Amino acid sequence: MKQQLILIAVILLLTACTTKQNISCLTEHLPVVINHELARDVELLSAPLMAGRKAGTEGSVLARKHIIERFKHLSIPAYFSNYEQPFDLPNGERGVNVVALLKGSTLPNKIIVVTAHYDHLGERAGRIYLGADDNATGVAAMLALARALVDNPPRTSVLFVATDAEEKGLLGAKALLNQGVNIEHEIVFNYNLDMLGRAKRMYFLSSTGKQADLSQQIFAIATICSVHRRFHRDKVTGRQVDYLRASDHWAFAKKDIDFLFVGGADHRDYHLPSDSPDKILKQQFSQISRNIVEIFLLIEQQVQSQYSTG
Ligand SMILES: [Zn+2]
Repeated sequence: MKQQLILIAVILLLTACTTKQNISCLTEHLPVVINHELARDVELLSAPLMAGRKAGTEGSVLARKHIIERFKHLSIPAYFSNYEQPFDLPNGERGVNVVALLKGSTLPNKIIVVTAHYDHLGERAGRIYLGADDNATGVAAMLALARALVDNPPRTSVLFVATDAEEKGLLGAKALLNQGVNIEHEIVFNYNLDMLGRAKRMYFLSSTGKQADLSQQIFAIATICSVHRRFHRDKVTGRQVDYLRASDHWAFAKKDIDFLFVGGADHRDYHLPSDSPDKILKQQFSQISRNIVEIFLLIEQQVQSQYSTG
């Protein structure tokens, strides 16, 4: 009987561990150090000078310059000439992705594409849509990941893409896929980051489903409450979000490329001029950006075991 009780206790303990998803939702106030570089990137990209970073505008040019400078500073080489991949917008203007490649040591020809869109809505009726959360935060987290991988070089190649014209229909991501990466490279995975700075919960969606290894590993390592979800109705805005189609990863999904999307839920400043940098939850965001690096390592592990021949 005693042995049975011990067995039951062990089972309960194991169950508690595997349902960390729920536990961590209740204990989300962690003492973390603020990543000031991360906060600075968000502030610069959502400064009024950038004028809402609408594709084809002067503000977009300035945002691009900042991202390119950051890649240069990290010594991550350009993938296209001067890091820029231009493409046509439907209105006759030009969109430009910023693309940098960090070569992998064991699978240099397989590419994990990390995407975060840098464009936003620009100015309307004399008001600037700053787009701090959407998506200066995703770009900043991507740059923080880039720094982490410079310090600990990846085994699979990593293509960092700050996409343009996501707000116009994922046009930058589509341009990357349709105009093609170099012939010797094969895109094996997309890791897409969008709206991470206001999130009290990290919503993620993976092409392999929530029961799959990758999702379970994310639940196990995430220090921020993590929820795998496709549909979400926001309590504040009432808006129904379909996370599958919500951002650039949808362009990859349609090409049958595995993806993992990480983002936050809607908030009352979503797609409004009031999405400003002062509202970013700096501690929370610093913690999420750490998880973003750890999740990348899980993705890389999966890609390595899938494609390594021995
Ligand atoms: Zn977005």
